[in-house]
Amino acid sequence: MEIGFSSEERQFREQCRDWLHANVPAERRPMDAIDAIDFDKAWQRTLFDAGWAGINWPVDYGGRGLSIVQQVIWLEEYARAHAPWIGANFVGVNHGGPTLIANATDEQKAYHLPRILKGEAIWCQGFSEPGAGSDLAGIRTTGRVEGDELVVNGSKIWTSFAHVADWQELVIRTEPGSSRHKGLSWVICDMHSPGITIRPIRKISGQTEFAQVFYDDVRIPLANVVGGLGNGWRVSMSTLGFERGTGFIADQVKNAIEVEELIGRARANGMIRDDRIADDLAQMRAEVAALRAMTYRNISEVIRTGQPGPESSVIRLFTSELGQRIERMAVTLMGEAMIDFAYGDDDAVADYLRGFAATIAGGTAQIQRDIIGERLLGLPKSR
Ligand SMILES: Cc1cc2nc3c(=O)[nH]c(=O)nc-3n(C[C@H](O)[C@H](O)[C@H](O)COP(=O)(O)OP(=O)(O)OC[C@H]3O[C@@H](n4cnc5c(N)ncnc54)[C@H](O)[C@@H]3O)c2cc1C
Repeated sequence: MEIGFSSEERQFREQCRDWLHANVPAERRPMDAIDAIDFDKAWQRTLFDAGWAGINWPVDYGGRGLSIVQQVIWLEEYARAHAPWIGANFVGVNHGGPTLIANATDEQKAYHLPRILKGEAIWCQGFSEPGAGSDLAGIRTTGRVEGDELVVNGSKIWTSFAHVADWQELVIRTEPGSSRHKGLSWVICDMHSPGITIRPIRKISGQTEFAQVFYDDVRIPLANVVGGLGNGWRVSMSTLGFERGTGFIADQVKNAIEVEELIGRARANGMIRDDRIADDLAQMRAEVAALRAMTYRNISEVIRTGQPGPESSVIRLFTSELGQRIERMAVTLMGEAMIDFAYGDDDAVADYLRGFAATIAGGTAQIQRDIIGERLLGLPKSR
């Protein structure tokens, strides 16, 4: 592993910093998905027009074809500049698009990738079902082949941004009678298709960012299958690899900045004199540094092997659990002011409430521990 950046990379960092300094919107991103959609689309378009979307995506599809290290530098500077969360563009940019780059046909890539980067097409992820969250192999939503179409029936749940999405990465069972990992397909579903009903779900934070989606004889062209009919498990694993891989770098930089801000706040309000608080803050500062080192190691591995390995689960787990402790500390330092909050009025309170989801979404903490135990430590299977 080589630690340190080349002069070209350092120059690139300066360019990122300058552009972000001049262009990060002063206006706050609205919290609710419906209120935020115009903001998210406009910000993504601004990033695209200035050449900051898809930094390591192929040039043919609207990206810049730069290295993963440059993508990482961008994400670090992005977090440091307090630039807004990409919100509704998260699925398309962070894992839908990368899955297409790795598995889709030229036609699928040519149509969808530029639209994702420009913020013109919002994507959502239809993996989880009421009976299949951690256990993706338990998927029951079916797609019956009829001529050159799939006829889809069933339901998905916890679908972030479903009610504002145009397209969905949808995993369904396309082989009648198949079970577990076999007979699944990863398909591109048009969210405006007849037969789709979306029922928004309210979260603990008061927002309606996700929904349950029902499919009643929804027709999807066979041309929308990605990676071949029946290969859905393999394509889904590639999606999860991207979701759990480098997507968390921005969160880490945000964590590092937050810890320093919390130390400043604790000094200012005198709470640093409480030994427990001082110890916790010192511990967090050390863990943020450890996490950074692990991430750089993981990126070196991605460069060497071409894809994120099971080590991503260590980073994913550590980032989400550390993030929750940082968010808890932020509300602790607010003291009794926390009791007075109104939903969404205070970033610290909103982040604290949202933080509960961090150890569930994209694979629970227990599942990450299973992966670490089995695939990194070589322990026997838990079941
Ligand atoms: C904010 C948020 C956004 C989300 N967005 C999306 C989205 O856009 N698209 C999407 O498809 N899904 C989404 N999800 C769903 C998420 O991926 C699932 O909630 C997650 O995979 C867990 O599945 P589950 O909720 O069915 O819990 P279950 O799988 O029922 O798990 C319940 C508990 O049992 C534990 N458990 C289960 N199996 C094992 C095992 N083998 N070993 C040890 N412990 C185990 C789990 O860790 C958990 O604690 C989102 C979730 C959240 C919270």
